[in-house]
Amino acid sequence: MRKLLTIAGSDSIGGAGIEADLKTFCALGVYGMCVITAVTAQNTVGVFDVREMDADIIKKQIDCVFDDTEVDAVKIGMVSSQEIIDAIASSLKRWNPKNVVLDPVMISKSGYYLLKKDAIDALKTKLLPMADIITPNIPEACELTGMNIEGIEDMKEAAKKIVDMGVKAVVVKGGHSVENATDVFYDGNEFLSLPQERIDTKNTHGTGCTYSSAIASYLGRGLSLKDAVINAKSYITEAIKNSLEIGKGVGPVGHLV
Ligand code: PLP
Repeated sequence: MRKLLTIAGSDSIGGAGIEADLKTFCALGVYGMCVITAVTAQNTVGVFDVREMDADIIKKQIDCVFDDTEVDAVKIGMVSSQEIIDAIASSLKRWNPKNVVLDPVMISKSGYYLLKKDAIDALKTKLLPMADIITPNIPEACELTGMNIEGIEDMKEAAKKIVDMGVKAVVVKGGHSVENATDVFYDGNEFLSLPQERIDTKNTHGTGCTYSSAIASYLGRGLSLKDAVINAKSYITEAIKNSLEIGKGVGPVGHLV
């Protein structure tokens, strides 16, 4: 069985973060392992508090996993601070993992900063160059590039700029676009549009986490970057179609096993 590691934050309502990642791994038939970077007190209404883990225990969690077993792919989600980014980057350098998917988690849909503003540079310079693919949504791609992104042409330009920063490939996700939910994949050679009409639901909590974990799962199973993204797009589309009316706010996407 393929073995996948997620390095991310915990979401107490179970829709995003580590919990979404492990549910995705399970649904896609891979064994899930996890390094927790932070604990959020969160529900479908919002994020109410966060406690970051110490850098030391984050490093030890990473070392424990890699010291014991092969890891077929790694997904990195909420990293919260410069100190945590430094800890992850220095530990991963030691183990040189393959198939690294970086979801540059910045702000929750409810508006909570899950990455400190002063840590964006560290994410760009220390984690991005270690990744095989990065998965920004439009606001995150704007933050990474300094661009104002409106349509598909802007998404393509942003994708080029992001690959120039040292990552092998990028998928700029169109879910925040005013048009539809078309994503743009770019690997330095080829652009691929992943068209998708908007699905009419308010329950989209955990979409980013689920999408990046699905990409990691397919990479771990041996697919190419492009095929992993194509398959993950189908997975997230089905997950949004099967989202759950749980709680008083934005319900989670649903994982079909
Ligand atoms: N909580 C954690 C731990 C996350 O990693 C994320 C997103 O990556 C969120 C919350 C936000 O999820 P959403 O914006 O889908 O509600």
